[in-house]
Amino acid sequence: MRSVAVIGTGTVGSMALWRLAERGIPAVGFDAYAPGHDRGAAGGESRIFRTAYKEGPAYVPLLRQARALWEELERSAGSRLLTPVGGVTVGPRDHPKIRAVLESARAHDLPVEVLTGNDRVPEHPLRDGEIMVVDRDAGYLRPEASVVAAAAAAERAGARIARYTPVKQVKEDADGVTVLAQEGEHRFSHVVMTPGPWARALLPGLALSTKAITSTWFPRRDESLFDPDRCPIAIRVGEPAYSCFPAVDGVGVKVNLHVPWQEIGSPDDLARSVPVAYVEQLARAVAETLPGLRPDPVRVATYCDAFTPDGHGLLGRRGRTVLATAFSGHGFKLAPVFGDIIADLVETGATTRDIGHLAPNRPLRRLP
Ligand SMILES: Cc1cc2nc3c(=O)[nH]c(=O)nc-3n(C[C@H](O)[C@H](O)[C@H](O)COP(=O)(O)OP(=O)(O)OC[C@H]3O[C@@H](n4cnc5c(N)ncnc54)[C@H](O)[C@@H]3O)c2cc1C
Repeated sequence: MRSVAVIGTGTVGSMALWRLAERGIPAVGFDAYAPGHDRGAAGGESRIFRTAYKEGPAYVPLLRQARALWEELERSAGSRLLTPVGGVTVGPRDHPKIRAVLESARAHDLPVEVLTGNDRVPEHPLRDGEIMVVDRDAGYLRPEASVVAAAAAAERAGARIARYTPVKQVKEDADGVTVLAQEGEHRFSHVVMTPGPWARALLPGLALSTKAITSTWFPRRDESLFDPDRCPIAIRVGEPAYSCFPAVDGVGVKVNLHVPWQEIGSPDDLARSVPVAYVEQLARAVAETLPGLRPDPVRVATYCDAFTPDGHGLLGRRGRTVLATAFSGHGFKLAPVFGDIIADLVETGATTRDIGHLAPNRPLRRLP
């Protein structure tokens, strides 16, 4: 009889549990905290969803399936998780990331538009030589609510979740898998490893790093700008580089500056404050490019994710173990389809979805 342990019920683990339970596969999730907590990769109010994907056209079919599953989860939860406000990538016309967005769109015939004027998105004025690529199939997700919704859908479908139950070790043998949790040992036929930024502790053999990512919220000068029902999410490439959201909580506009993110030992040691010099750098970026915001932040918060050297996550099965981790700062939007692929890998050992770029046994090279 198949039985599955899911280690970590954060972003990807909660979705895996939901998709396994929907297929009638008995599954138990273990988490050191509880679904929806903000100690790992899933905190901070909002996450970008986009389909014209600068990280590579191979993601586009997965993103389309992820979108359909987000809608299914919304129906199950009876609440909105994905707000489809669209998205823009702004930057110098010839910037490699702008070219990569256009290449993804071309490869999959996505309905993107290129704008050279300033009137359509007043929140993100263009500077000389810049263009804006509009991705209509973009928007923002609510991370805490999404994880809570996936875990609740999993529990309704029959999964169990052991909350506040850290797992110390997982051992695989010819007949099954033993999970050594704080309060005792448990046997399963298969295990799904989704520990997110804690991966280095549970999976010490992998070439991963854990990095801190800071989010900062700025007040609006004009309340009609950054409307959460209308304003697109934005990614600015070049100098400065950041992602920017509408005013989701009604108070501030979240900006994540894209700088080389600092490596940390473990999420348990994550410093929740940032140097003043960093805030000053961010304030300069806001003053230069976001005239609709006041450049002094009203909220700063730091979260973290696990990264591979090449920036693509790890998803695959070996033996009785499915590994799904290190989504390198861009895994949230894809989590439902990753959960469904995990269920394929548990059920049949394979998937029809193309995940070659995520193969855990690929040679891992650092990005240039
Ligand atoms: C600030 C920030 C902004 C981001 N922005 C975006 C974005 O806009 N769009 C996007 O698509 N992606 C974005 N990402 C990336 C995305 O959020 C992550 O890739 C994704 O959330 C990773 O999910 P995960 O399941 O791997 O980790 P998590 O969601 O952190 O889940 C891991 C879980 O495992 C549990 N766990 C770990 N070890 C153990 C153990 N030993 N025993 C029991 N439980 C354990 C943890 O408690 C946790 O609940 C961002 C990430 C950050 C940090």
